Amino acid sequence: METMSDALLPKKNIAVLGAGFGGVAAARALGRALRRSAELRKLYDLIVIDRSAEHIYTPGLYEVATAAREDADPLTLKHTAAIPLEESFSGLPIRIIQDEVLGVEPSLRAETPAGILVPPSEYLIRLRDGGTIRAEYLVLALGAVVNDFGIPGVPKHGLVFKNFGDALRVRSAITETFQRTAQAHIVIAGGGATGVELTGELVSLTRHLRRAWKRDIRPRFTLVEAGERLLPGPPLIVAEIAKKRLERLGVTVRLHTRIIEVAEGTATVQAPEGANTRIAFDRFIWSGGIKPSPVLAGIVVPKDQRGRCTVDLDLTIHGENNLFAIGDLTCFADPATNQPLPSVATIAMAEGSIAAINVLARINRQPLRHYHPPKHTPMIVPVCGKWAIAYVAGFTAAGFSVFLLRLAADLRYFLKVLPPLKALRFFLRSAAVYFRND
Ligand SMILES: Cc1cc2nc3c(=O)[nH]c(=O)nc-3n(C[C@H](O)[C@H](O)[C@H](O)COP(=O)(O)OP(=O)(O)OC[C@H]3O[C@@H](n4cnc5c(N)ncnc54)[C@H](O)[C@@H]3O)c2cc1C
Repeated sequence: METMSDALLPKKNIAVLGAGFGGVAAARALGRALRRSAELRKLYDLIVIDRSAEHIYTPGLYEVATAAREDADPLTLKHTAAIPLEESFSGLPIRIIQDEVLGVEPSLRAETPAGILVPPSEYLIRLRDGGTIRAEYLVLALGAVVNDFGIPGVPKHGLVFKNFGDALRVRSAITETFQRTAQAHIVIAGGGATGVELTGELVSLTRHLRRAWKRDIRPRFTLVEAGERLLPGPPLIVAEIAKKRLERLGVTVRLHTRIIEVAEGTATVQAPEGANTRIAFDRFIWSGGIKPSPVLAGIVVPKDQRGRCTVDLDLTIHGENNLFAIGDLTCFADPATNQPLPSVATIAMAEGSIAAINVLARINRQPLRHYHPPKHTPMIVPVCGKWAIAYVAGFTAAGFSVFLLRLAADLRYFLKVLPPLKALRFFLRSAAVYFRND
């Protein structure tokens, strides 16, 4: 029973900024802890702030970008890749605030007589519409944005592929181009997982449109990569299998080829020989990299050369007791290799769970846990049709069975973040789009 003095205790906030893969994992774990403990609920409110009311399931964006005609209305497509936060947090004591985070500042940073900075007792979160919110514990999970590395012409002449709106834009631009030109040339820059999967799915879309329109459209696809291989990260064999698959589909793969400028209809590239050449295109898609959320630039915390905040093994930002950071905006040096972890959903989710455990440990004055990254970061990349390549637990496999594995991974994720029936419905809707597309 709540006593008078309990009711008078000022409640503090635990805030999770960003409800993507990392933020949702952290918020759900914290929400479950609050639901279990009346004591904790007396002391803390849990708030999640995101500019969107939905968590975007990014692996579903390829199907949005290349959806078959009957699924092409944006609302139907949204139901296959956007998970409503209300549904994901239903039954948990979580307050969702839909607003844009503009900045985070320490509310108070005392200095001892010896000149040592004491970590702040609270953080102030500045919002676009909602003024300022204070939080005692903060989990930064704002993700990343597209990085064009300042290459001239990319923002003006290139499509990008990072969020739901981008996926719709890619779809309408590509179909419009195919309607206009039967032999369009589509250039995709960036041979990471996004570039490889998107290229494969565009080939798939072409096949579908050829049948649907009864027109002999024969676009050419070129995938350009500055590095010496596709799919950096897993062993080279994974990259070679993916490259062979794309080439068999008719895609030209150009490695060691760096985009240096993009203009109307042409991309200037630096080829292996060092000379600059031009590639004419009808559509140019940039998937060459990401950089941390711009909000991070305004927060005074240690960062690496790529602007990501450097976190300790317990996921606190170095020197900040109550400020945790997870996912794509962080640089976590793997203790086994001393290399930063890749920016993938599986790592953001695992970090979200550990950050939640550590927020609770901090509240309970217990030691914090370290995040132990997996030895092999799992990767499953579908490449056109019901075919995918995977690198999981140190094993490489490809083919239809891997495509099924990917569907199983989707279902597993939906079951993690949604009540079972809703997860199943979401899965069936997205799988239906997959099957119609592929
Ligand atoms: C097309 C695509 C496909 C991918 N496929 C895979 C895959 O198959 N497997 C895999 O492991 N990884 C995949 N990834 C990578 C994966 O999506 C990211 O690594 C993952 O989303 C990182 O999680 P996060 O929580 O750090 O950030 P995000 O999931 O990006 O979440 C960040 C959240 O913060 C919110 N936000 C950002 N800025 C603000 C602000 N200023 N105010 C309020 N809210 C804000 C955003 O709306 C978003 O909800 C893919 C990425 C893309 C783009």
